[in-house]
Amino acid sequence: MSSVFRNCKTVLVTGANRGLGLQIVESLVTGGGYAGKIIATARSPGEAEELQNLSKNHPNIHIITLDVVSEESIKKAAVEVEQIVQEDGLNCLINNAGINVIADFETVTPEKMLENFHTNSVGPLMITKAMLPMLKRAAAKGVGMGIHRAAVINMTSLLGSVELNWGERAKDFKWYPYRTSKSALNMITRCMAVDLEADGILCMAIHPGWVRTDMGGQEAPLSTEESISSVLAVIGSLTEKDHGTFLHYTGEALPW
Ligand code: NDP
Repeated sequence: MSSVFRNCKTVLVTGANRGLGLQIVESLVTGGGYAGKIIATARSPGEAEELQNLSKNHPNIHIITLDVVSEESIKKAAVEVEQIVQEDGLNCLINNAGINVIADFETVTPEKMLENFHTNSVGPLMITKAMLPMLKRAAAKGVGMGIHRAAVINMTSLLGSVELNWGERAKDFKWYPYRTSKSALNMITRCMAVDLEADGILCMAIHPGWVRTDMGGQEAPLSTEESISSVLAVIGSLTEKDHGTFLHYTGEALPW
């Protein structure tokens, strides 16, 4: 599966200490097809035991600190990423870190909205801005679009789809902060796709499915391995036609 990543030299994953982020790192290094550098970020690397153990056997994993809501942390991380990727630049940025602040119409507060918006929408935008020089450097070396060149992948959710939040589908998950933070991330993806197209940087949003993680819960139908093997297959196959899209982990287009 990760053989589709063979033309990619550098990948950065946020929130790589657990859940889907950790699975992305694990699948890339154990899938057999990826030999490039993986920058795995966590806000507390010292506590990221599984990730640390994985990196002991795979020296191409570089663990760095990144709190996606801290401008200072983003700035420091960008300096470290620069030192790791050097002339190669950054081929694939996966904005995966996210939180789910659960609140319905009764319980929602300004603080809950802003907390979710900061992590899930503002964070990916600011991280992409900070990594832009490295993305541009990688993009300058290639033609076409995809992770052989440079791509920004935003881990979004079906729950962020405005169109799908209607009728039967709108009866569950009445989560104002989470849903709107992912709708905003979807719009940010489109805005960045417009702005970064001239640099040859592909931007897209992907829904990983409903997955058994701390966020997804144990009743979710998909294991992290099942979700991420599909997600990586989709990311690895992205081309010009996928620029500015919102895709399901199976590769189908989703309504905004
Ligand atoms: P988890 O709750 O299992 O993991 C979330 C990750 O995000 C953790 O690594 C966490 O780090 C990190 N994170 C949260 N806040 C910050 C922050 N301020 N700075 C840095 N890292 C942070 O979630 P999943 O793995 O399930 O979800 C990953 C992504 O996929 C999210 O964006 C989520 O919205 C999306 N998604 C998940 C679905 C599912 O069913 N699981 C469905 C649809 C979308 P820490 O350990 O430090 O808290």
